[in-house]
Amino acid sequence: MTSPPADRFARHLQLPEVGPAGQARLGAATALVVGAGGLGCAALPYLVSAGLGGVVVCDGDVVELPNLPRQVLYGDDDVGRAKAEAAVARLAPLNRACRLTAVSAPLDAHNARALVAAADVVVDATDNFAARYLLHDACFAQGRPLVSAAVHHDEGQLAVFRFDRAAAGPCWRCLWPQAPVGAAGQGDCRDQGILASVPGVLGAMQADQVLRVLLDASPLAQGQLMHVDLASPALWSTRWKAAADCVLCGVPKQASAAREGRVREQRPPFDPRAGAVADEETGWDELDAPAACLWVDSRSDGEQAADPVPAALAGLPIRSWRLFGADGPPSDRPCVVFCAHGIRSLALTRHWRAAGCDHVQSLRGGLVAQRRPRT
Ligand SMILES: [Zn+2]
Repeated sequence: MTSPPADRFARHLQLPEVGPAGQARLGAATALVVGAGGLGCAALPYLVSAGLGGVVVCDGDVVELPNLPRQVLYGDDDVGRAKAEAAVARLAPLNRACRLTAVSAPLDAHNARALVAAADVVVDATDNFAARYLLHDACFAQGRPLVSAAVHHDEGQLAVFRFDRAAAGPCWRCLWPQAPVGAAGQGDCRDQGILASVPGVLGAMQADQVLRVLLDASPLAQGQLMHVDLASPALWSTRWKAAADCVLCGVPKQASAAREGRVREQRPPFDPRAGAVADEETGWDELDAPAACLWVDSRSDGEQAADPVPAALAGLPIRSWRLFGADGPPSDRPCVVFCAHGIRSLALTRHWRAAGCDHVQSLRGGLVAQRRPRT
């Protein structure tokens, strides 16, 4: 391990949590960043400039014009160019000592294992569930720490998985056994638009967590999900628990490779209800007495203001999810949690059910399904 240049990293070296030993640790580390979109473009410059020894950028897409507002490593001249190559070309002058590698191919079952195995820390900056699950499972199998983020509208979520530790804690599949059906983006349609700055905030937070993991400087705990709502603005975290029957981490005696194979066999078809407890969700038509239920709106404040509930729900007892803590809503009556598409509400329902709230259900398909004409 060679000494880092003192002048360049002077502000790091002054910090007790970094110092010469920590900076040398960064210099000896290689990060794999999967996805060079909005999240990746924000995380990558910090990883390169902060003194990591190597950064591998994996992305199979080419730069398109609508990418430019939020994917700030690219400019007009890069349209049509492979993102991984364009990103590496832009990053190289930031720190010539950093070994940069472009992998201009999508992460898939063939390359995931080798890419993850060659990294000391992995950044999930993908924009689709298939890659997210593949990367998560590969990190689990290879014992690599994973820093994962997702964005949607004004909101983002961040989680750290310490698969490099023996007692890692709950994995992503404990919360979401399978990827949601038909979901190209992070839980719902990727075509709904996003403010350029939102993935920038979350990507920078990912870089921060990568440094904290490498420096052992208080990264997020595993099973802790950090939520960011930039419309409010608000920052808070929730926790989820390990599932004893988790298809990935719930089988301690099996070899990790065997577990990975078992998950692969069970993955398709993508179905949000696969693995769900039967009564975790309810349809609007399945409710006997909607007015007797407590309705919890799990959307952000910005969404609630911009998109009032439809007429069928108006007049019902609706409360914001923010009124209830980790213990969930009171159990004196049934509770139905809803959001736009029924994905975030299902996550919140599972969170509360893990805390003992069996009276809580998620509205299947969310407000979008409720508004859809009945056939
Ligand atoms: Zn698990």
